[in-house]
Amino acid sequence: MDIVISQRTSIRSQSLTLDVNINPPATQIQSSASPFASFLTGEKIEGTVSIISQRDFGFDRLHISFVGEESTTIPSSNPDKAKHQFLELIQPIHDSALPSPKVFIAKRQYEFPFSFEVPDYLPSSSCRHSSDPLLKAAHLHLPPSCGDASIAGFGGKLRDDFAPAACKVVYSIYAKLERFSKTFETQETIADKRLKVRIKPAVGDVPLPDLQSMNNSSSGYSLHHELTIHGGNSKSKSPVTGRLAMTLEHPGCFYHPLRDPIRLISKAIRIFLVYTPSASDPITPPPELKSLKAQITATTIYTTKLDNAIHPLPKKRDFFNRPANFRDAELPLSIPSTPRLGWTQDQTGSYTTTLLVPVTLPKDKSFIPTFYSCLISRVYSLCFQLSVQGASEPFRLKAPMQIAAERDPAALPSYNATLGIIDME
Ligand SMILES: [Zn+2]
Repeated sequence: MDIVISQRTSIRSQSLTLDVNINPPATQIQSSASPFASFLTGEKIEGTVSIISQRDFGFDRLHISFVGEESTTIPSSNPDKAKHQFLELIQPIHDSALPSPKVFIAKRQYEFPFSFEVPDYLPSSSCRHSSDPLLKAAHLHLPPSCGDASIAGFGGKLRDDFAPAACKVVYSIYAKLERFSKTFETQETIADKRLKVRIKPAVGDVPLPDLQSMNNSSSGYSLHHELTIHGGNSKSKSPVTGRLAMTLEHPGCFYHPLRDPIRLISKAIRIFLVYTPSASDPITPPPELKSLKAQITATTIYTTKLDNAIHPLPKKRDFFNRPANFRDAELPLSIPSTPRLGWTQDQTGSYTTTLLVPVTLPKDKSFIPTFYSCLISRVYSLCFQLSVQGASEPFRLKAPMQIAAERDPAALPSYNATLGIIDME
């Protein structure tokens, strides 16, 4: 889209140059790998729009805005597309800041400052899901920039954020110069420029509701798994020695540390094990763990309908069983070694133990925060597979996990958003 716009700009006015410059945030680590500035909730995006013309140039209006848009495509022989502008903050420009009369004098450089604060919430009018307050509240959180390789990553490195090519969330500073056309009796654009910025919205102490498991009974989550344990090596043909139950602790929220792209995002997750020996065989010791595998799945679910009642939609597959409205990116986690189980026997004769599994998000990928928007949702799940001596199949445990960016406690909630005075077209 940017390329088209700049081409149009050059066709419309070759003698006038309009540029958008953003001051890098003071808090950001500078790197030449990513020219894009990254902003958190509550931070100010500041900079200037500079205009220089080769000849005297009359105009009527200068428009500077901070825009957030999302777009989706359902691929098929007849692709279904949607685009939704969910945010437009407009920089007020007083007439006294403009040249009078409204003419840019040849070869003189004009600069117009702008300042936008990344709001905590979107205006209510940006989401039509009014019948479900919980859904609407989730949609009014800003979605993070996603699906754009040129601005993915944090700390200046470009990283994969697992978004399918069909999904994009793009924020930009957009500047446009207009002049009244006597021929068409309307304002026409003489020059415009769009500069992308990367937005990583933070959530406060209250994480987002888990809409995925609330609305989809088929999400496959399972926090508990029980299997019978057999003696010897022939498994199900051997006599039953007992029963093993595993319960996964809800992993809760993984937080991106505030302005620290270096620190690993890590958490120890507990799995509780209870082994009950069968009455006929109280002497066989409890089983050992043979292997432990862990995986994070990053799921992007999308739609092209702005008013679907259910969110996120259930996953759909096409005739060839290919994902039609989602992408699951599966990321195996490295577990240093298979732990030994330190069983303790209680008075009833049962054995208990707790496994502590370190879960660290791989550093080379961009784990954008969990979000739900009118067109796109990103959810994560954590899955463990444990093979146990004497069990006929592996134990499988799967839980939803949330990823969020830590909010700067020093940044006040955005004034604009609190009062709901964001301009929308
Ligand atoms: Zn919505």
